[in-house]
Amino acid sequence: MKDLLPAARERGMTVYERLYEPHGEEAKQHIKKYDKVLELDHEGKKRATPCLRHPEYQGWLTGTVRDLFSTYLFDGIQFGAERSGPMGEMLYWNSKPGCFCPYCRQEMKDKNIDPDRLRAGFYELYQFLQALRTAKEPPAGGAWHRYLRVLMQYPELLQWEWQWHRAQNELHQMVYNAIKEIDPKAQVGRHVACIETAMDMYYRAGAPFEEMAGNNDFIKIITYHEITGPRLHSWHLQSLGDSIYKGIPHDLIVVQPDGSKQIIPAFWSGETTWTFRYSATLEGVYSFTTRCSDAGNAGLHGKQGTIEVTPCTGDNLLYRHGTLTISEDGTHFEHLDGTPFFWLADSWWFGMSDRLRWPGEFQLLARDRKQKGFTVIQFALGFPCDIKPMDERGRNAAGIPGRTIAVYFYDKPGEGRYQMGGFIPGEIYLATYYDPRTGDAYDQGTFVLEEGEKYSVPAAPIRQDWVLIIDQK
Ligand SMILES: [Zn+2]
Repeated sequence: MKDLLPAARERGMTVYERLYEPHGEEAKQHIKKYDKVLELDHEGKKRATPCLRHPEYQGWLTGTVRDLFSTYLFDGIQFGAERSGPMGEMLYWNSKPGCFCPYCRQEMKDKNIDPDRLRAGFYELYQFLQALRTAKEPPAGGAWHRYLRVLMQYPELLQWEWQWHRAQNELHQMVYNAIKEIDPKAQVGRHVACIETAMDMYYRAGAPFEEMAGNNDFIKIITYHEITGPRLHSWHLQSLGDSIYKGIPHDLIVVQPDGSKQIIPAFWSGETTWTFRYSATLEGVYSFTTRCSDAGNAGLHGKQGTIEVTPCTGDNLLYRHGTLTISEDGTHFEHLDGTPFFWLADSWWFGMSDRLRWPGEFQLLARDRKQKGFTVIQFALGFPCDIKPMDERGRNAAGIPGRTIAVYFYDKPGEGRYQMGGFIPGEIYLATYYDPRTGDAYDQGTFVLEEGEKYSVPAAPIRQDWVLIIDQK
């Protein structure tokens, strides 16, 4: 800082400190007696986050910013926490709510919130959410109504949520005052995380922007133009779909040419696209209508269309006669339309390795087998037969089976700390991000692990379609 600040000034640049609230196991390692200021959940156990009302935590935070601003001439600070209030903690993060420390209990008394009623409400809601998450079906009458009922029976839950956001605001005020006392010109701003701007409905309701204007010179809103959609889906909507929105389908009703109906689940396939996969078995016109949990969502609900299925003109038996199934008498394979199928297979154990070149050699061999009357070709996927895992002879376009690991982030978009185990201790591995759109590769360095250690991806993929390739050197 001593070197950076004057060098930045010389170039006409400003320098802002970013202070992010510590929490979790990491904070414990770096902050002495951190345990002392942790929140207490409704069962009296410690949570991983510090209590906003704990005077020692407030003292530590304001002391830290005083120290920073009296030591260095920063132009300003961006201060904030990324965590939800008690309702969001339960709903989105499946975590127990707080806080019931003596300072919070005093606050409850001051605000006329009965601590026993609040605790009973937390028990009721937490148990209800747990039951929903493990149940196969939603409860009779629907999950959402039962959820609302708990809120009506225990309005203390909402009152306390509101007070949690007030406590957050008061803490910001303390930090603001502490810095302004030292340097009135320093710009104090609030970091507003993506959970606050986009995802957590309790946060959006509990922390209005206009209120933030009172004790901040600026607010820094995290919009995350690319990652918000996937995060909203994987962190929040899935969690709600497992709990209070349980049993609310996003699916498609298909009416077949013979008038019969099928319900096909649709799935979210990135950004604003929902997709369904459907294999038609009859010729004719199919009609479909989409059905969404939110009937008011015109983009998803009630979309209609038709699909025309015409007879196959090619000679692909699967298209002409339908997929394979077992005959009714259980003695042979047949197509869906009843045409018998004779399984005569040729095995190409190395068919998926570099030993068989695509397309020339592959197609030549396939044509040959077809002419000879074979109906099936079998491949070994992963390790080819007769060689040891990691043998060079198994190499194909994706590397050597068992030696190259490809990690797709589709299910875990935006998770920079994606961890993997199962590596051979002492071996050197090389990690590279691969961008399938451009073909660019980004070296992530090598790593060696000890027994039982896990590998953490050093940086999150820029886009969810990036693939992490791990090679043994
Ligand atoms: Zn507390």
